[in-house]
Order: sequence, then C-alpha cells, then structure tokens
Amino acid sequence: MDKYSEIRVPISHDNPSIKRHERKCVLCGKCKDVCKKKMGVAGYWKYDSEDIVCINCGQCANVCPVEAIVEQDSTDALITAINDPKKKVVVMTSPAVRVSLGEMFDRPAGEFVAGKMVSLLKQLGADYVFDVTFGADLTIMEEASELIERIKSGKNLPQFTSCCPAWVKFVETFYPQYIPNLSSCKSPIGMQASVLKNYFAKSINIDPSDLVVVAMTPCVAKKFEAEREELRSYYGKDTDFVVSVREIGKLAKRKKIKFDKLKDEPFDTTFNTGSGAGVIFGASGGVMEAAVRSAYYFTTGENPPKDLLQFKKLRGYKDVKTASVNLLGKDIKLCVIFGTMQARAVLDKLKTKKYDMIEVMACPNGCVGGGGQPRTNDTDTAVQKRAQGLYDQDAKMDIKSSFENPNIQHLYKEFLSAPLSEQAKKYLHTTYRAREYRK
Ligand code: SF4
Ligand code: SF4
Ligand code: SF4
Repeated sequence: MDKYSEIRVPISHDNPSIKRHERKCVLCGKCKDVCKKKMGVAGYWKYDSEDIVCINCGQCANVCPVEAIVEQDSTDALITAINDPKKKVVVMTSPAVRVSLGEMFDRPAGEFVAGKMVSLLKQLGADYVFDVTFGADLTIMEEASELIERIKSGKNLPQFTSCCPAWVKFVETFYPQYIPNLSSCKSPIGMQASVLKNYFAKSINIDPSDLVVVAMTPCVAKKFEAEREELRSYYGKDTDFVVSVREIGKLAKRKKIKFDKLKDEPFDTTFNTGSGAGVIFGASGGVMEAAVRSAYYFTTGENPPKDLLQFKKLRGYKDVKTASVNLLGKDIKLCVIFGTMQARAVLDKLKTKKYDMIEVMACPNGCVGGGGQPRTNDTDTAVQKRAQGLYDQDAKMDIKSSFENPNIQHLYKEFLSAPLSEQAKKYLHTTYRAREYRK
C-alpha cells in the first residue's frame, strides 16, 4: 500500500490508464480531493486494502499540478505498428478530440480541427483514419432500440448509458445491483473496433490480426476498456490500443510536425460519415439527445421536430439535468449526469425518484473534460468551449440523426441485418460483471 495514501490516491503498478512519477509528487493532495469529491471513489473503499479501487477516469492526472500523474503512454506501440510493413494501422478518432487537439498547439479551446487532425495522423503514418461518430451512430441505433424494448416491457428501467467505461466500472464496483440497468451496448469505440476487425478487415482482404486498430480519445479509461475480455469479438483484441489527445499532441511535437501548416484532409471512406447526433456524443447530454432523436423516429416513423434537434434542457454545463419526452404515448423521464459522485446521489434515491433513462459520463461536461484531454488551468471554460464547438458543428450538419446516416444503413444491409438482430447482438453488445472490493 502507498505510504502516502492518507494524502494522495494510491495507484496500482498494473493500472492500464495512469501512472505516477514518484519523484515529481509534491504531496499536495489534489488527486485525492478530485477522486473523492467529484468521482466518489476515494473514501468509499478501505485504504489498507492491497486491491486498489480505481475507475480509470484520469481526473487525478488532470488536476495534478506537477504532472506527476500521467497517462500510460502508448505512442511507442503506435510507432512500432506503423513501422511494421505487415500491419495496416487504422486510427479512429472520438468526437471530443476534434475540438481539443488544437490546444496542444496553442490554438483556442473548442476550435474544430477535424481536417488537420486527419492530416496529422496520416503524416504520423496511419493507413486509415476513421471517424468514431460512425461508431456513435451505431451505438444509438442499438441503444435507442433497446430503450424502446425496455419501455414496452417495463423491465430493467431506467436504462443506463454504457459508453463511458469509468461509469460502467463504477456500477460494476459500487452498485452491482444495477448491472441489469446498464445498456448492453458496447461503447462507440467498442462497436466500431468490432466492425473493423470482423467486417472491414475482410473487405480489404487482410487477416484481422494484421489490422491494428488504434483509438484516439479524450479518455484514459478507454485504455482499461480495450483490455476487457468481454470486448473481444474475435480471437484477438478488437481495439489494439488507445492513445489520448495529449499523447498524439506530444508525439507530433517530437516529430516536429507543424500543426498550423497542415492542410485539411477528409476521413477515409466507409467510416467517414457521422451524423450531428454522433458528433455531440462528446458533451454531457449528447448521448441522451442523440438517443431521443432516433427513438422518436423509431416509434413514430417521422423525423424528430426542431425542439428535439436542439434539446435545450439536456444541454449546458450542469452536473445534473432532467427533462422528459413523449414516446409511445408515455412521458419518458430523462436524467443526464456528469461526475460519478453526482451519480451516487441520483442512484441512492432511485427507489423514490423514478427515471426511464439515465446518461452518466464520469468527466466534467462529459468527454470534452476527459482524463486524456489537453491540460488547462481553466477546466470550466475549456469544457464549455469544447462542447460549444461540437454543438456548432451539429448545427451545420445536414444529417442530424443516426438513423439517417447512409453508411450506417449500408452496414445494416450488408452485415448486421437490423438493430438488436442476432448478428448485431453478437458484434455490438456485451456483458458486465460485479467487482469485489473491501469497504
Ligand atoms: S496531485 Fe500530483 S503532486 Fe499532488 S499528491 Fe497527487 S500525485 Fe502528488
Ligand atoms: S483515475 Fe479516477 S478513480 Fe482512479 S485514482 Fe484517479 S481520480 Fe481516482
Ligand atoms: S466521460 Fe468520456 S473521457 Fe471521461 S471516462 Fe467517460 S468516456 Fe472517458
């Protein structure tokens, strides 16, 4: 056990997401403070235990003033894969990284730099760069369908979102009684990686083990998620490894790539189209808004009205937001939360305060405030600007909802059949497990 665990968070040597440079630590206690007050993790398990409880969110790394806590770096693995002539390297980029990568090169928070990001990854040597807004759309096709099934049957409500691996691990650890409430959908990265290994590899005629799938994320919990046995849909790992925005920014600087000089490049085809719904996944409330857009269409056969395409009650920098929407003639109650400490408060009152769907993202304002995002002295401003960058992009897009995405329609026709079909369940859904810890 860490001899300073009264002051700071202990970090296990095999934590796949974060590590600490001991010599740098000044014992300020900020890591423990955020872990306890925002994440509701430190202080909720017995500190003399050898089994350290961590949900891998990386918020302690974001607040550490001397960068003693940092992400586990996967850039060497990326370079090795790129330099291996047998391998094809796919980098898929999460919605929230296109509004924060610029900050690594002194550009303003929230600036939309998707084109430069693709160009940068190509210069680093990626063979393909795909957009995870595609995976987000796929998640919504499945998750909205699952919600409708649960509303019809009245079983396992409220449905919890499952795209945040830190939140999933939080439920598995502290609230295992609510595991049946978690959506069985893999995260957008989990779904897209599965499609890449099981469908795309075949379409370009290579063995899936020679396709190296790399996720570029705002998130260090995804490094943990990539290791989950439950997310293996073929004989190897679906997502081979995960690199954060910070890692890619630092690697580009090491390679002396001039970000400002990069020309915009489009994502590679097949997985290049995402909807506005997929884009807003990166902000707290975005997953819920995206799900409502598609659930409305699935239940009425009509496109969602304007107020659902800009669901104001689900937007804004507030750690708990509530709203309701009429689906199947019922008043469906929605709750959106960021910060797992806030989730505790809602879960502890679930018996008396009823909801039909709850979105939880661990980080401040969702993935825009992720544990792998560029460091900032003003988190509150940065996460709001990044979220605004995503909403502005959604407003400009013609395809607003996941069901309208032509690439998604094509994938169902060619490979998955229909949402919640046997094939879709095999490749896009997962299971969870209760985790023991000492109280
Ligand atoms: S925040 Fe950083 S410097 Fe402060 S106690 Fe934690 S690891 Fe040490
Ligand atoms: S990663 Fe999150 S849960 Fe783990 S020690 Fe840091 S703040 Fe706590
Ligand atoms: S909110 Fe987003 S960035 Fe933070 S842990 Fe969850 S998935 Fe990762």
